Amino acid sequence: MNEILLQGGLVVDPATGREAKGDILIRDGKIADGKAGKSAVVVKVEGLVVTAGLIDPHVHLREPGQSAKETMATGTAAAVAGGFTSVIAMPNTSPVADGPNTIAWMKQRARETGVANVFPTGTISMGQKGEQLAPIGSLRQAGVVAITDDGHCIQSAELMRRALEYARMFDLPVLDHCEDRSLSAGGVVNEGKWSRILGLPAWPGIAEEVIVSRNVLLAELTGARVVCQHMSTAGSVRILREAKKRGILIEGEASPHHLTLTDDRVEGYDTSFKMNPPLRTAADVEELRRGVVDGTIRFLATDHAPHCSYEKEVEFDEAPFGVVGLETALGIYLTELVHSGLMPLGEVLGRMSMFPSTYFGLGRGTLAVGATADVTVLDPERKWVVKKSEFKSLGRNTPFEGRELRGRAVLTMVDGKIRHDLDGRVVGA
Ligand SMILES: [Zn+2]
Repeated sequence: MNEILLQGGLVVDPATGREAKGDILIRDGKIADGKAGKSAVVVKVEGLVVTAGLIDPHVHLREPGQSAKETMATGTAAAVAGGFTSVIAMPNTSPVADGPNTIAWMKQRARETGVANVFPTGTISMGQKGEQLAPIGSLRQAGVVAITDDGHCIQSAELMRRALEYARMFDLPVLDHCEDRSLSAGGVVNEGKWSRILGLPAWPGIAEEVIVSRNVLLAELTGARVVCQHMSTAGSVRILREAKKRGILIEGEASPHHLTLTDDRVEGYDTSFKMNPPLRTAADVEELRRGVVDGTIRFLATDHAPHCSYEKEVEFDEAPFGVVGLETALGIYLTELVHSGLMPLGEVLGRMSMFPSTYFGLGRGTLAVGATADVTVLDPERKWVVKKSEFKSLGRNTPFEGRELRGRAVLTMVDGKIRHDLDGRVVGA
């Protein structure tokens, strides 16, 4: 018998409604009740919050094929360092995860080298080319938790309709990177003052909103579950809010950068602020926050997208899109949503654990007795400064370097094993 007792913390478990000081006993990988035995390892967590392991619904682990950017080992090390016990992995790898063999490889690789749970997604279309549907039933059998062409957006409404019909049949959510390429073509920054001043090609908000609208209509028509990924504009929030009022099964996803940064950050052509969709205006940020608070946007993701430094250290329009996020997201969300007074701690933690677990059917996201012991211990008050040199991720492309944050994960357990300890070490990588 293997027992760990997390002693004296504030237990916050939105799934059961428990929010009180107490102990959490873990026995053989599960949350247990009763008394700890004499041989139990006791970890004192007074003054800290003990909650269900955080789940990130949007991560790029880059394996197979792009292991110079990130691997299952380094990506999951970054996850547990940031308090995440599970990540949902995007399929834009090399080869693209458009068939059951790649999914099987990813699952095995994650088991052998990872320190967090990895739930793969499959693509919507073969090769993410947007022409021909991937074998959605076989992907489902191989164990994907959703389908997405993330990085690309299915341009054909007809193909998207058929994807949604199949997805509904197999009860798989469809995650969409919303970008009408006839409107965004070649764009790298928000359309407005800064695209004009810097002379950079514009990626206007309307390119996202057109696809969000399409997805609302197709979700209504097919009854499929759709998530609009990394939402960036006020218009997208309004469209989604109206759709949800009508009972359509559509959800939105927020990222730390779109919730906190504006397009003036591209002023110095710093590619750490180049992401897809691009940073928008202060009015967009304000509406995105309102959308998160009122439940229009329920997913709090990272869109962790590591790249090599040499890839990012080029001209702005040449650099790849994307920023890392696993090691800063919790601090950003606690600082910007909880400490700012916008949302209670329990609500934010529930959005980052119970909600994604339920939505994707992961069977985690709670500290109820008998549950798999995925546990995050955090210090909601700890002040710290983001230093990319300390990241476990191979990616250094953060837009938050030097930012002071309040709140940090201090201990992470996956399947009952301590994977990130109180000394800040990743264990078992
Ligand atoms: Zn995307």
